[in-house]
Amino acid sequence: MKKASVCGAGGFIGHHMVSSLKDQGFWVRGVDLKFPEFSETVADDFVIGDLRDQYICRQIVDRKFNEVYQFAADMGGAGYVFTGENDADIMHNSGMINLNMLEACHKRNIKRIFYSSSACIYPEYNQMEPDNPKCAEDSVYPAEPDSEYGWEKLFSERMYLAFHRNYGMEVRIARYHNIFGPEGSWNDGREKAPAAICRKVAMADNGGEIEIWGDGKQTRSFLYIDECLEGTLRFTRSEWTGPVNIGSDEMVTINQLADMALDIAGKKLTKKHIEGPLGVRGRNSDNRLIEEKLGWGPFEPLRNGMEKTYKWIEEQVGDSDDR
Ligand code: NAD
Repeated sequence: MKKASVCGAGGFIGHHMVSSLKDQGFWVRGVDLKFPEFSETVADDFVIGDLRDQYICRQIVDRKFNEVYQFAADMGGAGYVFTGENDADIMHNSGMINLNMLEACHKRNIKRIFYSSSACIYPEYNQMEPDNPKCAEDSVYPAEPDSEYGWEKLFSERMYLAFHRNYGMEVRIARYHNIFGPEGSWNDGREKAPAAICRKVAMADNGGEIEIWGDGKQTRSFLYIDECLEGTLRFTRSEWTGPVNIGSDEMVTINQLADMALDIAGKKLTKKHIEGPLGVRGRNSDNRLIEEKLGWGPFEPLRNGMEKTYKWIEEQVGDSDDR
């Protein structure tokens, strides 16, 4: 029986990945500081542990795993990453996790490890225009990420590549672009734009208003969780190290994203633009390399994923006392 280990299995992507690996017949060990919040894990073994602790990392990889997925990170949406208030924690915590896990896998002679990097590593100077951001994989240098979160990801990418070069580890590095879907953060201060907008729309009474950070003309693309998993699995099992973008290239403005949520909800609300942490002006996934190397790219329209996400968040709002 094939075995996989998922770090960050209590979080959004990790939890979904555990389910996907179980569906494929793997024996799965998950590890996280916490259990998944919204539904029970189906992992065969779930360790509550802190991956900043080298000893815990060695315990996690106490046997041969065919695949290790490293999703654990101190992260969140713009409200967490771009205020500057969490920079020290983000760099230290995520850095420690990556240092420890990589070393533990190397010592155990585990070869294949997937690392979830981010579009946040791309230079700010290439993303000043909402209409034509540049996010080709080779545009990363000269480096100038717009957040410490991005700098940590870039450092860790380089460390994974060094372990590949020096120790023959079969690392796989993907740069995710805004992954969204049910069972992600939606009201804890770490939520991203799709979840935040769905929540605001679901909580507002028809005829009311929702707040949007900035003028709403900033652009982004959003990838639904199922396609993220498919891309991640295809890539991890390919014979190529990356780094590669895993994201959608259906770029929208935040205003368009809000209008989509309003349309799905069948509500008429005024958009009130307020000051807030924003990140870069424009960002879109450049999918030429993944299509060339894997013969695959995500194709599902944003609207489909937004419909499923809105429905889930509407249920959460209904179940919570927030309203
Ligand atoms: P998430 O915050 O839901 O999951 C991360 C998990 O890591 C959390 O459950 C958290 O408890 C766990 N964790 C944090 N510190 C830990 C520690 N010291 N020990 C053990 N577990 C710890 O985030 P996600 O959206 O599932 O993202 C997964 C990965 O993908 C992260 O590395 C993130 O940086 C990367 N990524 C995500 C996106 C996205 O849009 N979701 C975009 C780019 C990159």
